[in-house]
Amino acid sequence: MEIMSTHLLHPVTLVANEMLKPRLHRLTFTSEAFADFPLSGPDEFFGLVMPKEGREFTPFSIDGVNIRAAVAALPEETRPNLRWYTIRSLDRQRKLIDVDVVTHGDSGPGSRWIRRARPGDTAGMFTCPALWTPPTGSQLLVADASALPALRHILAYQRANAPEALAETHVVAVVTSHDEVEDGLAEQWGTAVRSLDVVEAAKTLETARTLTLLRERFSPAPPRSVWVSGEGDLTKAVRALAVKGWGLPAEKVVWVPFWFHGRARP
Ligand SMILES: Cc1cc2nc3c(=O)[nH]c(=O)nc-3n(C[C@H](O)[C@H](O)[C@H](O)COP(=O)(O)OP(=O)(O)OC[C@H]3O[C@@H](n4cnc5c(N)ncnc54)[C@H](O)[C@@H]3O)c2cc1C
Repeated sequence: MEIMSTHLLHPVTLVANEMLKPRLHRLTFTSEAFADFPLSGPDEFFGLVMPKEGREFTPFSIDGVNIRAAVAALPEETRPNLRWYTIRSLDRQRKLIDVDVVTHGDSGPGSRWIRRARPGDTAGMFTCPALWTPPTGSQLLVADASALPALRHILAYQRANAPEALAETHVVAVVTSHDEVEDGLAEQWGTAVRSLDVVEAAKTLETARTLTLLRERFSPAPPRSVWVSGEGDLTKAVRALAVKGWGLPAEKVVWVPFWFHGRARP
């Protein structure tokens, strides 16, 4: 696996913004830096620096400071917004990165920018690490709509780099609306992985439904590692089940709160 030694702020240009579903956009960015982009893993995320409406992205110094502090130090009238997204796919030859984003109207700066972004718009991409680690035995991957793009990238990455691991991979997709989920997960991956379950639940009931399924399916024979990303309560509850209920060592459980019901992610 390639490890990035430093974080960088790349100027990027949007080349496409495709609405895959009413609330799922696929953004395609290009940059000269993508020709030799060192991907640290399939759920590598980045900070998307989004200029204010009508403005171009202007590079700024991030030397020795945290990106949030660097953004906060910019003048209010030109200060861009910052949100986090996951690389869905990287094409070094064509210098393209795809990112799939769940939108939710104009209630947050990320969703608002993505709904309006047009080819030719500029932004900044602040590189960050991957969080998933290659498993040494059976693994459970759990994701809601915001994290299913990352989960699909993990599956594609394993197929390319360690296809035997797929036979030890259990997938649980948590879906509260098909308007925000790319079609075809079960068709594409259902026979390749050890098991694939889709939990369908109304919003705010998804955590309870997911825990019920996980207890029934896995408590008799828990997986050796867990990766869970998505809504904050969901990730916290799955982590608690894995560590306290199944006795997994904390380092075998990667949990990443992507967003929170009713409040912006800090
Ligand atoms: C490491 C990491 C990787 C991520 N990767 C992705 C990714 O690849 N694709 C992706 O779609 N998201 C991803 N996210 C989540 C993304 O950053 C959040 O959706 C984002 O914070 C929303 O920003 P916003 O400005 O639109 O809304 P915010 O200002 O954060 O929130 C405003 C309101 O919108 C609500 N809200 C936020 N997200 C959602 C949602 N998904 N559904 C319904 N309501 C919501 C909040 O509860 C809040 O009330 C990732 C987050 C992290 C931390």
